[in-house]
Amino acid sequence: MTVELLGVEGALVQGAVVPGDVAIDGETVVEVGVRSSSGGTGIACPGFVDLQVNGFAGVDFLAADAGGYRRARRALAATGVTAFQPTLISSPPEVYEQALAAVEDAQREAGPRILGAHLEGPFLSPRWKGAHDERHIVDPDLRLAARLWMAGPVSYMTIAPERPGAGELLAWLLAHDVVVSLGHTDADAATAHAAYNRGAGGVTHLFNAQRRFTARDPGISGVALTRAGVSVGVIADFVHLAPETVLATWRACGPRMVLVTDAIAATGCGDGRFRLGDRVVHVSDGAARLADGTLAGSVLTLDRAVRNLVGLGVAWEAAVGAVTAAPARALGRADLGVLRPGGPADIAVLDRDLSVRRTLVGGTEVWPATAVDAARRPDGGRDNEGARPAPPDSAE
Ligand code: ZN
Repeated sequence: MTVELLGVEGALVQGAVVPGDVAIDGETVVEVGVRSSSGGTGIACPGFVDLQVNGFAGVDFLAADAGGYRRARRALAATGVTAFQPTLISSPPEVYEQALAAVEDAQREAGPRILGAHLEGPFLSPRWKGAHDERHIVDPDLRLAARLWMAGPVSYMTIAPERPGAGELLAWLLAHDVVVSLGHTDADAATAHAAYNRGAGGVTHLFNAQRRFTARDPGISGVALTRAGVSVGVIADFVHLAPETVLATWRACGPRMVLVTDAIAATGCGDGRFRLGDRVVHVSDGAARLADGTLAGSVLTLDRAVRNLVGLGVAWEAAVGAVTAAPARALGRADLGVLRPGGPADIAVLDRDLSVRRTLVGGTEVWPATAVDAARRPDGGRDNEGARPAPPDSAE
């Protein structure tokens, strides 16, 4: 046994700080609360889990090769992410197939864990298409679902439950171990309840690209906010959702609220023109938009999402839960989002200002990998705080 100490001052274990160092043996945590004479730096937290990330650091997962995945994973590690779902927006089947094959190849390489692909589409509502290309949105089709499922590891799918055949699709996906989230949808409350009764587990980017919540028509948002057990995906960049909306959602959902980034390739790259699948996206002031103003994913990082939530008055330990225990629960993965003896050494070491100091995956330090990394700001200096809110009608 070669037990190593991380050199931290404490560890976040089940939402509470245990003072002392953390001992790891190979890929596994063996002890927390280890007394150490040298005095450590930073708090070891469970590594962050992002259920929805379209691209990162110049890399679009719909068109990424092995080198692209390496670059994106290194940049994701710098934001505390130790596991994620590359997310693929509505696309022609052959584009999905190619991208899913790349996901499968990348899964075998080192770095933050690739849990499987999140297929966001193509069985969505054209009415709430957001930045998706309507030409690629289709009715539920079991043959197409099977074709995509065969093409690579599909762990998660966003569907619109009101589309014809969505019930059969939902049952098929659950039978094939795909977690189903509802999104890009015009579902009313009754339709949403019916889909959750049949086993759908989540809602994709609450309040964005879905039927509007109104006084007598709460729609899917109202159901997701009030129904126990539903995992509620939230983009806390203060562009997709106003701060009050994030806070209201937190108060309604607590540990069911899952912070996601919905990040696109532009994340960490500053302002300019980027791609999201076959769409051109313009980034400025912390927002990514199509030419017509529609929001097209975000340039948010998960560590900043945590800090944004803390900025609203949420306890930091609970905010970290929204990127660890909450996404793990959404996926039904007891091995993710935890830091405990016997568990995997997937760890983000945070400083007091909640910036990411170090990231380990399976006991291996993946950030900082070099001295140059250590000198660079983890999120590329991107700052979404103070970004202007979205105009009321844009939706992604
Ligand atoms: Zn979306």
